Amino acid sequence: MKLILANPRGFCAGVYMAIDVVDQLLDICDGERIYVYHEIVHNKHVVDRFRGQGVVFVDSLENVPRGSIVVFSAHGVSPGVRAIARERGLAAIDATCPLVTKVHAEAIRYAEKGYQILLIGHADHQEVVGTRGEAPEAIQVVQSPADIPLLSIDDPSRLVYLTQTTLSMDDATVIIGALKKAFPEIKEPPSEDICYATTNRQSAVRALAGACDLVLVVGSRNSSNSVRLTEIAEAVGTPARLVDDKTEIDESWFTDVDRLLVTAGASAPEDLVQDLILELIERYGGEVEQHDIHRETIEFGLPGTLKKFMRSRNIDPTGRRITLDTSAALSAWLNEHEIAHTTVDLTVGRT
Ligand code: SF4
Repeated sequence: MKLILANPRGFCAGVYMAIDVVDQLLDICDGERIYVYHEIVHNKHVVDRFRGQGVVFVDSLENVPRGSIVVFSAHGVSPGVRAIARERGLAAIDATCPLVTKVHAEAIRYAEKGYQILLIGHADHQEVVGTRGEAPEAIQVVQSPADIPLLSIDDPSRLVYLTQTTLSMDDATVIIGALKKAFPEIKEPPSEDICYATTNRQSAVRALAGACDLVLVVGSRNSSNSVRLTEIAEAVGTPARLVDDKTEIDESWFTDVDRLLVTAGASAPEDLVQDLILELIERYGGEVEQHDIHRETIEFGLPGTLKKFMRSRNIDPTGRRITLDTSAALSAWLNEHEIAHTTVDLTVGRT
């Protein structure tokens, strides 16, 4: 069996940053309890590893003792949550991805200008809940074209749409098309809201899945961008499975599979992909082919709230070194494990 590895896959800059925030706090706050509001990123293994290090994940700030340290997850929070944190005297460290913060800022700006905002996304996703909280009177969520007749629009010439960062580009295009048809004067966001990591992982799967017999996506079921990758594979006619790790693969999936595409959602750690590769090679033999579609070089620095917190404890705020070149890192790992592999450079972009 040929194992095709899609590049890019796995951790994005926002996830690296959010994980680094909790890692740094664990180092700094030796013995002090660290609370995280919601899952820091939507991945079971990442959350379980932090739980094992004593981190407590909460879904309500009422469960965080007054004066404690709390981290806001990469998906962002509403102003209401920030206000509760202040009221409880919490030391709040904000690990919101800057690309989510950008959508918050757009929502605030348009609401202040008197626009009604149509937020395309999944109503119950934490990111959408957080963005909506910035201007609840002005924002209505659109999950599909079927929602459009139900919208309450005051002035179609004062209307703008924004999108959740991890949507399927294909679904978003359909919804945006329907919105433009219903409201021809609707304004577009100043720049694309679906983030670079979502776009690149989806376009890699779209480019590669058609020539494969099966797609395995490493990611958790509550990870929006991981689920979208399975949908994109299926949209090009290739069956796809979402697995948290190698223990979830099922023998019956591999009958008549000669070419298997492996990718990972933006919150899935690379060591889970490596474990999966070892398991598949052991069971079915074969070789690995890396297909590089995009090169990513984006990195985010530590959030200002963490830097301030570190300085308050006389610690120099420096970020950790992280590996962004998944392709080069995997090649080194494959060499180390003496697994036959080649790299196909199909790079169409650099972000
Ligand atoms: S998927 Fe995009 S928006 Fe979400 S954390 Fe990663 S870079 Fe940020």
